Amino acid sequence: MIGTGLLRSRAAAAAFRAACASPLVTAQQQALARLETAEPAEIAEWQRARLRRFTDRWASAVPYYRRHPEYLRWGNSGGPVGAEGAQPGDGAPPVLLKDTVRLAPADFVHPRVPGRGVTTGGTGGRPLSLRVSYSSFFTEWAHIAYVWSRAGVRLDDPKITFRGGSLGTGFEGRPMMYQRPYNHLVVSPFHLSDDVFATVIDRVRELRPVAIWGYPSAITPFARWVARTGPHPELARVRAVLLASEGALDWQLDLFREVFGAPPIRWYGQSERVVFGGECSRVPGSYHVLPTYGVTEVVEGRIVGSGLTNAAMPLLRYDTEDGAVAGLPGAVGTAAGGRCGCGSSFPVLRDITGRWDQSLVYGVADEPISSAALNFHDEAFARFDRFQFRQVRPGEVELRVASAGRTPDPGELATVRSLLQRRVGDRLAVTVTTAGIEDLLTRRGKIVMVDQQYRPDAATVGP
Ligand SMILES: [Zn+2]
Repeated sequence: MIGTGLLRSRAAAAAFRAACASPLVTAQQQALARLETAEPAEIAEWQRARLRRFTDRWASAVPYYRRHPEYLRWGNSGGPVGAEGAQPGDGAPPVLLKDTVRLAPADFVHPRVPGRGVTTGGTGGRPLSLRVSYSSFFTEWAHIAYVWSRAGVRLDDPKITFRGGSLGTGFEGRPMMYQRPYNHLVVSPFHLSDDVFATVIDRVRELRPVAIWGYPSAITPFARWVARTGPHPELARVRAVLLASEGALDWQLDLFREVFGAPPIRWYGQSERVVFGGECSRVPGSYHVLPTYGVTEVVEGRIVGSGLTNAAMPLLRYDTEDGAVAGLPGAVGTAAGGRCGCGSSFPVLRDITGRWDQSLVYGVADEPISSAALNFHDEAFARFDRFQFRQVRPGEVELRVASAGRTPDPGELATVRSLLQRRVGDRLAVTVTTAGIEDLLTRRGKIVMVDQQYRPDAATVGP
C-alpha cells in the first residue's frame, strides 16, 4: 500500500517534470491564448468539432455509451448549442450521475487506452474509482500552467508550497522537504508552527521563491506569522499566491494580498476531469472555463461537464454535483462581442459551491488543518462506501467509516488508521470506527466531510 503511494507520487513527479519541458504543454497554452481572444461563436464552433472528434474516437468504444447511444448521438451532433450550455429539453441525454459511475466504473473505461487508476477522496464521503490516461496528466498541467502564466508564474518557478495530498507522500514525519521536480520547498500542513516557519525562511534564502502554493487554510498560519515577524526579504519576489483544492474565505484572500503583496490565483477542477476554470483577474469569484479541457453546461444549477482530455474514461454530460451560475454578475459590464473586462472570451461560472466548502479540523494547539489534507486519495479508502471525520476535542479526530452490507474487519480499520496517523504526524491523534451508513447522513441526505463539534476560541481562527 505504502509502496504504491510512493510509486504514484514518483509517477506524479515524473509527469510534472515532463510536463514542464513538453511541447504539448506549450502548444496547449498557445491554443488557449489564441482562443481566448476569439469571438464566442468561434470558440463554440471549435469546441463542437472537438467534442465530435472525441466522441467518435473514444466514447464510441465505451460499454456504457454503446448501451446508451443517445450520448454518442449527442456528442456526434456537437453537444450543447451555444457557449452558455444546453437548455433542458433540447434533446440532450440525461446527465450522468456520479453514483452511476461509482457503482460501475469499468463501464466507462475505454478498452484500449492505457491509463492509471485513481481513487478520489470523494466529496460526500463516497470514494470514486477513476481511470486517467497518461496524456491527461500532461494536459492537466498544461491548464494549470495557463492559469499560473496569467500571473507571471511558470510551472517550474521556485515556490513555497503548503500541501499534502498527492504530493505529500514521503514527509515521513519531517515538517518540510525540497522536491526538485516541482522546484519547491513543500511544508506539511500538519506542522505549521512558528519554529517551522522560521526554518522555512532560512531554507528559501537561496531558492528565491516567486509564488506561494497550497491550501488556503495551511497558508493562513504562515501569512499570520509573516505579518507578525516580517517583512522578510526572502519573500520579496513573490508575485502570486496559488490556491488549490479548497475554498478560500474573503478575509484569507485579503490577508494574502496584504502580507505577500501578491494576488491570490484560484482555479477550479475535479478528479473526473470534465471542467476546468481559472479565476478572472477582474471579477473575483468568477471563473473562465477553458474550452480545451471540456464542454461545460449548467443544468438546474449544477455544473455538468463533458471532458475532452481523458480518453481512458470518457465522461459525457457528467454531473459534478457542484453548483454554479453561468455568466458574469449582472452588475459587471462586458466589452463588445460578449468579452469579459479582463479580455477573455471564455464562458464564466460564478458562485461555485460544493467540493469547496471549507471544512477544518484543529490540531493540538488549535491550529486549523484543511480537511483536503486528510482526504487523501488511497485505495484503502475506496473499500468504504462512506466516511466522515468527527472532531470533539482539539488534537483528536475520529474517522467513521461505513460499507453497505458488510462490516469492515479490524485489519482494514488498522491499515487506514496507520496511513492517516503517519500523514498527520503529532498534530492530531486519529481513531477509526465503524458506523451505520444512515448514521453518516445529514438530515438533507447528504454527507458532510467533517462533523465538527469543536470550535476553538474565535480569536485564534477569525481574521
Ligand atoms: Zn474575465
